[in-house]
Amino acid sequence: MLVSSDIKEISRKVENRETLTEDEITYLYDFADLPSVGKLARSISDKISGNRVSFVSNIILNYTNICNVRCSFCAFYRTGSEPDAYLMSKEQVIEEIRPFYEKYGVRQLLIQGGVNPSLDLDYFTSLFTEIRKVYPKLGINGLSTSEIAFFARKAKMSIEDILDILRKSGLETIPGAGAEIFDPIVRRKIGRPLNSQLEWLNVMETAHRMGIRTSATMMYGHLENSLDRARHLLAILNLQKKYHGFLSFTPWNFEPGNTKLEKEGLVKYRVGGEEVLRNIAVSRIVLGYELPLIQSSWLTGGVSLGQLAIRFGANDWGGTIYDERVIPATGKEVGNLRKEIIIQAIKQIGMVPVERDNLYNTVQVYD
Ligand code: SF4
Repeated sequence: MLVSSDIKEISRKVENRETLTEDEITYLYDFADLPSVGKLARSISDKISGNRVSFVSNIILNYTNICNVRCSFCAFYRTGSEPDAYLMSKEQVIEEIRPFYEKYGVRQLLIQGGVNPSLDLDYFTSLFTEIRKVYPKLGINGLSTSEIAFFARKAKMSIEDILDILRKSGLETIPGAGAEIFDPIVRRKIGRPLNSQLEWLNVMETAHRMGIRTSATMMYGHLENSLDRARHLLAILNLQKKYHGFLSFTPWNFEPGNTKLEKEGLVKYRVGGEEVLRNIAVSRIVLGYELPLIQSSWLTGGVSLGQLAIRFGANDWGGTIYDERVIPATGKEVGNLRKEIIIQAIKQIGMVPVERDNLYNTVQVYD
């Protein structure tokens, strides 16, 4: 059993670039006092990025809500027969992006939907090629590992070949969606397909080996425990040590509204406040100097909690939001978050906002 003084030993290990044990990580989750954990986390981020907090002008495009995976924690998917099931055409996607590119200068397009069985690779290659042609400054951060693995199976091709084709047509990075929690038992309970955690890790490792940068995530606040979270973070860290392909890590709190898990009474409410801050801080400490950017995950926690998350070790705000559809499907309205609001939120806590592009290159510093 670890005791409170062990935070000093944990701090020493982080500074010496040593990997924490599962016991040390669960101690940080279950016993260590929150201010001490936050202080240690912030001290690491201070050394990585000082008083700078990055963000990206981003648009999220949910091109389809038809999905054949049907996760219990997802309120977004439709089977295809419902009146509100949809799939956007290439022309609709191009027009949807236009006002945000022209008016707000968005630099990143997060494009993800469901695993729609009616689609094949041509839909994406022609879509990505057209997007790059019409909006050359827009970096495509696209598709989940589930979508990529599905198209590989459908086309009877390797993950590597699929990624190569997608990259040549304009895909720049891959978002971290679908990681959830790697523990296979919890994963089954929340409705993820068998071995989908191995699929996630395999697609990410393949991408990193090919030089495609990606992001990583963890979804908490459902049926997992602290040990599951510890093991998840360590798995991300181990992969990161191989190729340093992850650009950022986002821990985000599960939003149960309108999901099967809520309807069955397995998850009654969304965790907030302290849990959010602790998860940001523990992620920062465990991933240490190997994975430099931790996102504040403001989307499910709001702007004020996003600001506090910076104090607890986050150093990337994430992106602007215009018309995101996945979270509102749970009944929680997130509204739009323009660049000006992010800049103000970061300045309000005495930090310096730095606008970045999809590959985390600096676009503008707002001193
Ligand atoms: S989380 Fe993704 S894969 Fe799962 S049902 Fe929703 S859209 Fe489909």
